[in-house]
Amino acid sequence: MKAKLVRMTEDEMNMPALKEAGEILKQGGLVGFPTETVYGLGGNGLDPEASRKIYAAKGRPSDNPLIIHIADLEALPAIVKEIPEKARILAERCWPGPLTMIFPKADIVPYATTGGLDTVAVRLPSNRIAREMIRQAGGYVAAPSANVSGRPSPTMAEHVIEDLGDRIEMIIDGGQVEIGLESTIVDCTEETPMILRPGFLNQEKLEEILGQVELDPGLLHETAHVRPKAPGMRYKHYAPKGDLSIVEGPSEAVVAKIRELTEANIKEGRRVGVICTDETRRSYTDGTILSIGSRTEEETIARHLYEVLRDFDEIGVDVIFSESFRTPQMGMAIMNRLLKAAGHTVIQVEGE
Ligand code: AMP
Ligand code: MG
Repeated sequence: MKAKLVRMTEDEMNMPALKEAGEILKQGGLVGFPTETVYGLGGNGLDPEASRKIYAAKGRPSDNPLIIHIADLEALPAIVKEIPEKARILAERCWPGPLTMIFPKADIVPYATTGGLDTVAVRLPSNRIAREMIRQAGGYVAAPSANVSGRPSPTMAEHVIEDLGDRIEMIIDGGQVEIGLESTIVDCTEETPMILRPGFLNQEKLEEILGQVELDPGLLHETAHVRPKAPGMRYKHYAPKGDLSIVEGPSEAVVAKIRELTEANIKEGRRVGVICTDETRRSYTDGTILSIGSRTEEETIARHLYEVLRDFDEIGVDVIFSESFRTPQMGMAIMNRLLKAAGHTVIQVEGE
């Protein structure tokens, strides 16, 4: 099977193509589509067979639950047993947007979609192509990121074609995504809401709305014995083919260390990649040097992270050294993904 490729923008949506996508989804087929976070691999979230196809296409472990995407707030009550007060507040303030919330699931949501859990994760995306497609599909689209399990999430349709082009019916190309990191996942079913996966909406913003919000302790001590609450956060993720290390410390010391490591590795006959920013780009001379964005516009760093990791897979390098990106708003989300990609290999350097 070769996926049918259609292109459109949020301003100029191709309605016949979206109807066709909706039809494919209603029939139990799979469609790759853009959202503001990353590209999704959609299937009918209320059809266990479609969910099983999603797992098979991605090679995803079946105990890693899917997020159901809806197009309107009115669609929520049908798939959840109750809406906790804090979830209702967050839905009103942050939806449509890059926020996923956990609810006790209603009976019509199959266990094949929730990985056997009695809870269901729900998101209302802001991307208009996504929302129209969901409406055309009947309202409930289960969609993990549209990558093969273990590869970086797709931020462009080309990435979806690369990973799934011969495994699904259709791919909607809506251009490069806006955010580039997966949604923030919040569990509001407990007294104090908890962030299960960091994203664009950070703890500070959530606390402004809800008061105290906790961070899943499993996110901070991934190597220790505390297991993250979101099953997906326990899996090794986003591993590039090259061996990735993050170098952390004052900027000048980081540059000096990466230069030193690059030189030493090239001498040993290895192909080296460097992940830097526009601000430091000129400080490097050896290896394949890719700038991820600008430190003065941290959203550019988030948007290009997965793309840069994929680029290095394509270029083919043996080792990659990356600067660290603890930026003010999205630093936690960016570093969560980068640390996973690096298998938590961090080289600390100190200033003079
Ligand atoms: P992805 O679809 O690749 O963005 O991954 C979805 C993420 O949502 C994974 O980390 C899942 O473990 C998490 N998730 C989905 N449903 C639930 C749920 N009911 N409870 C906790 N985490 C969930
Ligand atoms: Mg994913």
